Amino acid sequence: MYKYDVVIVGARVAGASTALLLARAGLSVLVLDRAAPGTDTLSTHAFMRAGVIQLARWGVLPAVLERAPAVRETVFGYDGQLITVPMGERHGVDGLVAPRRHTLDALLVQAAREAGAEFRFRHRVLDVQPGKGVRARGPEGECFVRADFVVGADGLRSQVAKAVDATVVRRTEASTGSVYAYVPSAPEDSGYVWRFKPGSAAFVVPTEQATLLCATVSSRRFLAEVAADPRAALRRVLTEHDPALAARLPENADIRGFAGAPGCLRRAWGPGWALVGDAGYFRDPITAHGMTDALRDAELLARALITGGNDALAHYQGTRDAFAQPFLDVTDRLATFEWSMSELEQLHRSAAREMRREADLVARFGPLVTGARMRAVG
Ligand SMILES: Cc1cc2nc3c(=O)[nH]c(=O)nc-3n(C[C@H](O)[C@H](O)[C@H](O)COP(=O)(O)OP(=O)(O)OC[C@H]3O[C@@H](n4cnc5c(N)ncnc54)[C@H](O)[C@@H]3O)c2cc1C
Repeated sequence: MYKYDVVIVGARVAGASTALLLARAGLSVLVLDRAAPGTDTLSTHAFMRAGVIQLARWGVLPAVLERAPAVRETVFGYDGQLITVPMGERHGVDGLVAPRRHTLDALLVQAAREAGAEFRFRHRVLDVQPGKGVRARGPEGECFVRADFVVGADGLRSQVAKAVDATVVRRTEASTGSVYAYVPSAPEDSGYVWRFKPGSAAFVVPTEQATLLCATVSSRRFLAEVAADPRAALRRVLTEHDPALAARLPENADIRGFAGAPGCLRRAWGPGWALVGDAGYFRDPITAHGMTDALRDAELLARALITGGNDALAHYQGTRDAFAQPFLDVTDRLATFEWSMSELEQLHRSAAREMRREADLVARFGPLVTGARMRAVG
């Protein structure tokens, strides 16, 4: 039976990106996902600069920008006082972008396929044997996929993490819940808008042929006030921040919601396995950073696997955590909704500092080697 170098569980931003890089380097890669191809998932879509740099470096950005508008500024609202921050050029990138997930994930899959990675959708992984492969069930029944290395890119409730008993390095306490809807774009929707007031936030994210309006509160408030009637809650919170935003919400808008989950940083690797994306590192969506993190960590992991050996994998985890830990500090504090406006501005400044550091890191990545051979790792 054919044996892959790497089998990846999960075919969205983390899994498809890792597959793309490994396949370009010459490794044989199979990606399994229980979902159907091209499906949507919960997301408010906002990429930060490091994520856009990665999309540009990998050659995926032009296709993304054909579908979603470039975002040229970010507006922060502190209890009604608006501060506009123009993007400016840095590392060759002068805009952000917020593609719909059914577009972004599909473009990454397409690029990975073009590089030689194989994908099997509607395949649920049932059992993980690190260093040997995974057992999965697809439309034609059960199969065992042999692979030297198993990567869990299977999201917050990662089955791979459970199967390998990945140690939790850190768990955070605070979490937020969000409700959002897509509304027709308006000419004034030129940037991300992050408005904050004591107890709630309202976000505007221009995406593909629509703008996403989002209301965010603590998970406690979400369960007490939002869960019972998300539509009314979205309208109420948007009105608190700007009645004109609430007026844009159609009566029949399709409302999506997420009640929240605490942040969780897991050990990133062990013998024959590694985790990437939310599977290894979940942070509250209030900093809109999960996809940007996933693209950074996909490349850190791919480079470690190409180099091979435990030191390379330890370096993957060390670098991931050097970025994840300070970002988790800021995210967790933001998610409490217990800050003053001046502390909030400080927190945003800290997040911006971390994002500059992260953009500097990914911009320094050199080209990947090609024609790599899998070395025994982990
Ligand atoms: C409400 C909300 C808003 C957000 N907004 C933003 C934002 O604005 N910007 C941002 O950067 N991030 C945002 N995020 C975070 C971002 O969505 C995640 O960080 C990102 O989706 C993580 O990608 P991933 O590939 O690691 O995991 P996922 O996107 O969760 O993908 C995991 C995949 O694994 C598959 N899978 C799981 N188990 C199995 C199995 N047993 N067998 C086979 N397949 C399996 C699933 O089907 C899924 O396709 C938001 C998150 C939420 C919840």
